[in-house]
Amino acid sequence: MTQRKAPKKRGGKKKRPITKPPSDQVEENASPSHTLSSKVPKHKHCANCGVSIDPERDTCSNECQARWDKMLSRKKFWTYLPIIGTILIVLFWILVSFGG
Ligand SMILES: [Zn+2]
Repeated sequence: MTQRKAPKKRGGKKKRPITKPPSDQVEENASPSHTLSSKVPKHKHCANCGVSIDPERDTCSNECQARWDKMLSRKKFWTYLPIIGTILIVLFWILVSFGG
């Protein structure tokens, strides 16, 4: 009665199962989101003359900056002018109504 023991093989090739899981390569199908990328690099236009400048600046030169500031102040004036006029008219109306 002799029992055969299977000899231990080292370094043998591991047998892989041939059947792959079906969800192995399907997950790599995710499409990258390149739809929002724009070709034009980050830039800005001069607020006064419209020349393309660095995004950190508002205008291309000090002259444009000065002109832009003047324009802004003028714009502010014209923006607040109706409010100031309305307040003056209301004050005048109050004075008249209380005076008469
Ligand atoms: Zn400019």
